[in-house]
Order: sequence, then structure tokens, then C-alpha cells
Amino acid sequence: MHVFAIPTRTRFRGIARREGVLIEGPAGWGEFSPFTEYGPREAARWLACAREAAETGWPAPVRDRVPVNVTVPALPPDRAAALAAAGGCRTAKIKVAESGQTFHDDRERVAAVRDALGSEAAIRVDANGGWSVDEAADHIAALARYGLEYAEQPCATLPELAELRLRLARRGIDVPIAADESIRRAEDPLKARAAGAADIAVLKVQPLGGVRAALHVAEACGLPVVVSSALETSAGLAAGVALAAALPELPYACGLATLSLLDGDVCADPLLPEDGALPVRRPEPSPALLERWAADPATEADWKRRVTDAASRGPATTPLAARPPSNGAPNLEER
Ligand SMILES: [Mg+2]
Repeated sequence: MHVFAIPTRTRFRGIARREGVLIEGPAGWGEFSPFTEYGPREAARWLACAREAAETGWPAPVRDRVPVNVTVPALPPDRAAALAAAGGCRTAKIKVAESGQTFHDDRERVAAVRDALGSEAAIRVDANGGWSVDEAADHIAALARYGLEYAEQPCATLPELAELRLRLARRGIDVPIAADESIRRAEDPLKARAAGAADIAVLKVQPLGGVRAALHVAEACGLPVVVSSALETSAGLAAGVALAAALPELPYACGLATLSLLDGDVCADPLLPEDGALPVRRPEPSPALLERWAADPATEADWKRRVTDAASRGPATTPLAARPPSNGAPNLEER
């Protein structure tokens, strides 16, 4: 078990340091890095993802590269445009609804990125639930002229998203809605779809309990899926890549090009995009980099306790009851 602590380049989700545990097993390396707000019960699913990676490995890929988006933080227009153009991605996800900023800032940023990438590029916005239904309807209507692939989590709750979709439809605005924060558990995509709250599901492997569990969720919910990261190291990102590589359909670029948000990595050959896509491969952590980013003893003790606490809530190896109990193990339901 290796505990890492890597500074983030810019504050992300309010954190300045990404921490977690890397576990090596017969199948390779797994990452356990639940954010601090996740208690043991939820962290058990994140641990199941790490254990799947280390102990079992992943289903066979059906593609060898995964198109990814560049993520554009709430930067001034010129810096946003430069960042969007630099990575070679043909899809940009632009953060909007940042606290302390106005919609004018959002619109300028979106316009600048569209200018920089040209009319062929796909542009999506992510409000992280920051708009009311009224704001979202008006802002998405105003941003639609720049060509939006979709709007991610414009409002915080499923009822708000459902209401927003109705209002956009009534106004003849054809911008799909993606649910991200609304999806943290296996049943959430089904709820989102049943509520008429989303056209697209953003899935992350760690909170869903691993690649197989996430594949089941994708199949069960029937919505197109965008695989996104939880700001992992390359060792953890590889699980997201494995999910994206194994999905039967992958209509949208994925949010897996997030390694550049960290100030370093545990792998010598990191999972960085080449020509707008990540190669489907599994980099190995290097001893020197594990040493370089090793957490201090107090942080290490804290994470070992989180693993123990999460394990005591296990064995939540899959969050869906749908998995056939072919191995003789009990068919575990979501707890
Ligand atoms: Mg998001």
C-alpha cells in the first residue's frame, strides 16, 4: 500500500493536494482516492474499484483509443482560449457559474474558446449545479448560439434538471443535459432517466465501484455515457480508460484528460492525451515516483485508517444486484 500526496496545479473542488492510496495486486495497481467528504460507507465502493484493478483486472477493450476533452477552468477569455487550443483536443469542457463571477464572464469565455477551436470543435459547459432553473434556461439559451454539445449539471437537483429540460424544449432550444454530480450511486442514472432529468450520464469508476459495476450501470440506464475521472493519478485514470474502452458505444469525448491538473504523477509514462485521445493502456507506478510523492506519516496513517474503515463496510464489489452470482459469491446489493 502506497499513500501519495500530489499538489494540484490550481485549486480543484477546493483542494490543493490530491491524496490517495495505491494498492498493488496480482492484476496490477489500483487507486483508492475518495474525496474527504466521502464516509466509509461510500468509500467502500471506491475501494471496490481499487480492488478490482489490483485483483481481477478489467474486461477486454473494444477500442484502442479514447477521445478526451480539454477542461477549461473559469479563466479570463484569453487564457481560456490559449489553454483550449494548446492540448490538441477537439472537444472542450468549459467551467461556468463559478462563484464570484458573472454570466458575462461565462459568455466571454465560451465565445473565446469557440473562436480559438473553430466551428468543427465540440464545446460543452459544466456549471457544477451552480444555476437555478431560471438562470440555466436563460444562460443556456444565450450560450446556444456558440454551439453547445451539451450542458453538464446546470442545476443541482434532478427535479430542477427535469424542469429545465421541459423549459428548453418549450423554447425550442436543443441542448442536451448531462447529469454528473447527480450520479454517484448505481441507482442514480436510472433515477435521472426516470425523472426525465438527463440526456447523458457522466460516470466515474471509483464512486460506482469499478469498471464492471459501471458497465452494468451504463447498460441498465440506457443513456449515452461520458466517462469522467475523479482527478486520479495515471494508475487510477487507467480504470476510467478501461471503462471507456469497454463500452459498446462511446459517442462523446471523455473527461479523462485530467492528469495535467496535478503537479506530478506516480507513473513515468503518464496517461496524457495524444492528438485528442488517450491510448488504452495501463501505466505502472515507478518506485522513484512513489517515493517522490509519498505522503507524510500523519497523512499516511489517516489513509490507512480510511482503507480499513472502507474495507469493514465491504465487500461491496458491485453496486448492482444484476450481476449473476456465477462465482458462488453472494449477490450483493447496494448498501
Ligand atoms: Mg462535471
